[in-house]
Amino acid sequence: MPPLPVILFQSRCHMRQVSVLLFVLICACQPAEESSTPTLFENGVIYTMSEHAPVVEALLVDAGRIIATGDAQTLLDSAPEAERVDLQGQVVIPGLIDAHAHVRNLATMRLAADLTGTQSIEEIIQRLRALEANLTYGAWLLGRGWDQNDWANTDFPSRHDIDAAFPDRPVWLERIDGHAMWANSAALRLAGEETIQNSADPAGGLIVRDAAGEPTGLFIDNAEQLVSGAVPPYSEADLERGLEAALMEMARFGITGVHEAGADMAFLERVKRFIDEDRFTIRLYAMTEPGPSFDAYCNNHLIDYGDRLTVRSVKMYLDGALGSRGAALLEDYSDDPGNRGLLRTSPEDYRVLVRQALDCGYQVNSHAIGDAGNRLLLDTYEAAGIEPDQRHRNEHAQIVALEDIERHAKLGVIASMQPTHATSDMYWAEDRVGPGRIQGAYAWRSILESGGRLALGSDFPVEQVDPLLGFYAAVTRQDAASWPEGGWYPDQALTREEALRGFTVDAAYAGFQEESLGSLEPGKWADFVILSGDIMTAPGPDMLDVSVVETWLGGEQVYPVD
Ligand SMILES: [Zn+2]
Repeated sequence: MPPLPVILFQSRCHMRQVSVLLFVLICACQPAEESSTPTLFENGVIYTMSEHAPVVEALLVDAGRIIATGDAQTLLDSAPEAERVDLQGQVVIPGLIDAHAHVRNLATMRLAADLTGTQSIEEIIQRLRALEANLTYGAWLLGRGWDQNDWANTDFPSRHDIDAAFPDRPVWLERIDGHAMWANSAALRLAGEETIQNSADPAGGLIVRDAAGEPTGLFIDNAEQLVSGAVPPYSEADLERGLEAALMEMARFGITGVHEAGADMAFLERVKRFIDEDRFTIRLYAMTEPGPSFDAYCNNHLIDYGDRLTVRSVKMYLDGALGSRGAALLEDYSDDPGNRGLLRTSPEDYRVLVRQALDCGYQVNSHAIGDAGNRLLLDTYEAAGIEPDQRHRNEHAQIVALEDIERHAKLGVIASMQPTHATSDMYWAEDRVGPGRIQGAYAWRSILESGGRLALGSDFPVEQVDPLLGFYAAVTRQDAASWPEGGWYPDQALTREEALRGFTVDAAYAGFQEESLGSLEPGKWADFVILSGDIMTAPGPDMLDVSVVETWLGGEQVYPVD
């Protein structure tokens, strides 16, 4: 029987009084999905992340969900009609969930120059010139990902470094951590150079100036708005192109779920449109931003949009980042006496926001990097009377005073941490905070051992998208060259099991989704990844050679696709 429109099923299925019609309807009422042929994935090494059967050889999938796991023969006996897929001994893990990332930024980053990994200002200029070749007259040249710590001269750059190459074209470049922006003189002119010159530093921001008091073109945290307001917005068509590229990239790295750390209305509408058009290939757990998206969703109590979008939390910023010395510290920076960083939200504003979120039943996810930011988070949550089952979160929990570590477990605050931040920052983090405070920095194991819960992510595009890099960083605390020997503060390393939990079941828990995601168990979505090697047994550096062969979402292959 050809499928009838769904709406017809729904209206006729209530007409149960006519027996002849009922007979027809019983056939017609079977949703297409339920009558599909099951698929048996067999002959694999399948890490289920289930406590009952951690490793199995076969998975039975039907209508997008896992029906059973176990040995192939038993599963085949239960579903002899199943289509069979031979995994040829390959390793399978649950679909990876990045518990803190920025799909929206990844999408726009794919529209701008990618400056990550650049080793010099000359190299940055080269990449900008490549992008400029595709720009129309007058358009801004945008880029993201520079990091002066990677250059021979690690001073902050200035507008003069790029003025000669781009005298008329406005250039606006975001630092790798998103907490500092670098403009050339053309950009400053368009943004109103005199106004900027005469502006005082805004609260939570800094206009970097030279000895003569002239803005150097560098803007820290809240001062960025002085220029970013002048940048013309991308067109919707551009943004869709960027989102498509971001989705393809995530599928390539085995990501089936992302917790979006800050989503605005326009982005959420774009996501819904992609879902409606059946081209949204991840499950997005979106944290709203304080403002219109938080107000709208919080008031309407919209939680789920199908199985691909969930909105029930809010992301707040307490402080900046360590690299740009914007992280709020309890004492001075070890390498910058007199500087204790910046709070981006005042304690009073933060208290009010947290109250507002709790009142509409929202999970509160706060960005805290420095020990002062982390303490303010814990104090505010505690004073608000949070309960552990509300699963409020500390996004980053990066430098935590030793006496505050166990408070995560006590209050039931989930530490949402990013292993690659440790291996990116380890070259200079101790310069910033000294040998004492570094003991509570990137301290995943201390959080776990004090009874706390972790959720792991990447913070892409601040870090690379590939979650297996995060897995590697979590278990080795080394860079790709296996430096330092034995790992950086190796006492904080996770086991492979703990690290994989952080990117699967524990990430699902942090999004209230452990009933349907995070492990390969009957009833859950068939989201899984086939790997080229075994990350659970490969020796240290060999883990980095393992790549994603296939990514499946809800029983459908999303990578590779034709
Ligand atoms: Zn982030």
